[in-house]
Amino acid sequence: MQSFLDRQWALCLADFAKNISSVGMDLWINPLQPINIEDDKLVLVAPSEMCRTQIYGVYLKRMRDALKEHFNLEDVHVLIPEEKDEYIEKFNLTHPTSEQVLDTKPATLQNPFNPRYTFDNFVVGTTNQVIYAAARAVAEAPAVRFNPLFIYGGSGLGKTHLLHAIGNYIWEHKTTNLNIVYVTCEQFTNAFVEAVRVRHEKGMDAFHKKYRQADVLLIDDIQFISNKKGVQEEFFNTFNDLYQAGKQIIISSDRPPKDIATLEDRLRSRFASGFMQDIQPPDFETRLLIIQKKIELERFEFEKGIDYELAERLANFNIREIEAILRKIYFLANLHGKTVATREDMEEVLEKECEQCVVSGAKITQERIINAVCDYFTIDQKDLTGRKRNKEIVEPRQICIYLMWSQLAIPLATIGQIFGRDHTTIIHARDKIMELLKTNKQIKKIINEITAELKKE
Ligand code: ADP
Ligand code: MG
Repeated sequence: MQSFLDRQWALCLADFAKNISSVGMDLWINPLQPINIEDDKLVLVAPSEMCRTQIYGVYLKRMRDALKEHFNLEDVHVLIPEEKDEYIEKFNLTHPTSEQVLDTKPATLQNPFNPRYTFDNFVVGTTNQVIYAAARAVAEAPAVRFNPLFIYGGSGLGKTHLLHAIGNYIWEHKTTNLNIVYVTCEQFTNAFVEAVRVRHEKGMDAFHKKYRQADVLLIDDIQFISNKKGVQEEFFNTFNDLYQAGKQIIISSDRPPKDIATLEDRLRSRFASGFMQDIQPPDFETRLLIIQKKIELERFEFEKGIDYELAERLANFNIREIEAILRKIYFLANLHGKTVATREDMEEVLEKECEQCVVSGAKITQERIINAVCDYFTIDQKDLTGRKRNKEIVEPRQICIYLMWSQLAIPLATIGQIFGRDHTTIIHARDKIMELLKTNKQIKKIINEITAELKKE
């Protein structure tokens, strides 16, 4: 049984999430608790005064459509915990009224996989393209090739995401009743230990049934396999049963099987009999694409150029950490009452989060960028900012424009003034270099070297 308020509120939450960022949802919206409808207002309890301020000041206007749709009202009355008891007493709300209680629908079989972890949301770059292709092939035709599929790589590089993507894909495309089972190694171990502990045939039966009747078995974080004989034996048997019955097995690990100390040799060789591939930490392009994808998916708004800068400065971070930093920057901007995160927000977060990515050394200025570019190409400053149009000058000029745009928080129009050119010419130059950066290694090298020079001292 679920109350009318709760049920409608759940529908609202799903709609709010369409135009409120996930950070906004986590911080301010999800903690709200609906407790009543009074006149034409939905009464909510917020955990703090700050939260209440955010709702009235920032979020209410984005909540109105959903409130109208699901409650047929457009306004809210937000209480804070100190006010809640008095309110409840006043309206005698301790028990929901009978018409507020509705039966919930019988549970239908729900897709158990994380809806965000799909192939579409997975950014493919040079460091993960092979495993991506293999995972896709497995999802499209389970147990045809690549069986078992063994994915390994450091923490936060997308192993769980890929396992869920396979699960989501099969779930969505399945035409027959395929039984897809996802389990972490820890859950598998605990379930087995529990089945043994209750010493009840039914317990063991249920355990066998669950795993040995899988058509696709996804096991995450196999490195946690315990060195207990019983668990490994059970796992070995499960593996063999499924494998011999032509079922697909997909395994992830933070290291290759040879480095899992507690793994029995026979399991090690079973894993090696299929397709094994690692995921490497993302390179610059992949980091940039990931940052851009996350900004798009989370509906963050960032000042132009921050994506490039972060991709450069977060070189030693895994994807989970990069995501966390993006969230923090956007959160901070929100706290400052902004809807677009700026360079200052970025610097503030980077300063706290990662010493190594705070640009040290002399401040980067227009003059230093111009000098560095002129030095690099041994050309004259007058030519760089002048009218000459030969290739030897045009490309350094475009690089200089790109660097000013990516390194300095100055408007394009200001860059235009420096070069005596209009805004569209500046945009053209910047875009030209951005485009080249995607494919041209030479340009990338030049930009990296000049940037390194700028960051010195
Ligand atoms: P692992 O299981 O390897 O520790 P996860 O799969 O949990 O890592 O990934 C950590 C986070 O990074 C997740 O939020 C995931 O969506 C994201 N992520 C990892 N790889 C990618 C990628 N290639 N594209 C987009 N997001 C990714
Ligand atoms: Mg994982």
